[in-house]
Amino acid sequence: MILFDRVTKVYPNQQVALSGLNLHIQPKEFVTIVGSSGAGKSTLIKLMTREEAHTSGKIIVGGLDYDTIKPRDVPLVRRRIGVVFQDFKLLQNRRVGENVAFALEVSGAPRREIKRAVPKMLQLVGLASKEDRFPQELSGGERQRVAIARALIRQPKILIADEPTGNLDPKNAWEIIELLLKINRYGTTVLLTTHNKEIVNALKRRVITINRGKIIKDEEQGRYSLEGGK
Ligand code: ADP
Repeated sequence: MILFDRVTKVYPNQQVALSGLNLHIQPKEFVTIVGSSGAGKSTLIKLMTREEAHTSGKIIVGGLDYDTIKPRDVPLVRRRIGVVFQDFKLLQNRRVGENVAFALEVSGAPRREIKRAVPKMLQLVGLASKEDRFPQELSGGERQRVAIARALIRQPKILIADEPTGNLDPKNAWEIIELLLKINRYGTTVLLTTHNKEIVNALKRRVITINRGKIIKDEEQGRYSLEGGK
């Protein structure tokens, strides 16, 4: 569960990025966040992952209250939330399997567990045969699949996909969206940001529109409307 209650974020330069934002996301939801550049989407994500601290209001993610969280608990937050980005952020000098394994290595998982988990995860994202390739040898869509596998290997409850299709052609973009839907069906909460209107319209899921640091629309596409912004 993700709860934002009247959350405001003011950056040190006095820029107000989020202004009294209220948001409630249930476990296993698939939510798309849209909004023009500068609306506050990245800030919202950075507050969720605790990359940035909020200025006021309340944030509770998976039962953790971000007001009382200790610095040593921040890795715990990060373990619960997997993130993938538009530019994949893969280690170029490591093979596909090593990129995925790395996420487990840093959390101190035993070698045996890593050896078992990596091929399974690559299978889930459809890359079982490419474990020994380097990122440069893959298409954009395949690179994003590696990034998704890496984000999921620690079994986070929430997957945030920040413009994951921004660098992909329409066919690859759809395959990534379908993969995110599959991951959501398996029980992971998915939060997607995108500028792609076709994707938003076709998804028929909850869409939240942010403008100037506030939610101005919150609706179930193709189902029914919710009252937004209150
Ligand atoms: P989006 O992701 O929707 O484009 P952002 O969350 O990046 O929006 O930005 C929201 C507002 O906060 C913008 O006005 C932006 O200029 C400002 N902002 C974002 N990051 C910083 C920062 N590190 N320092 C100061 N202002 C920032």
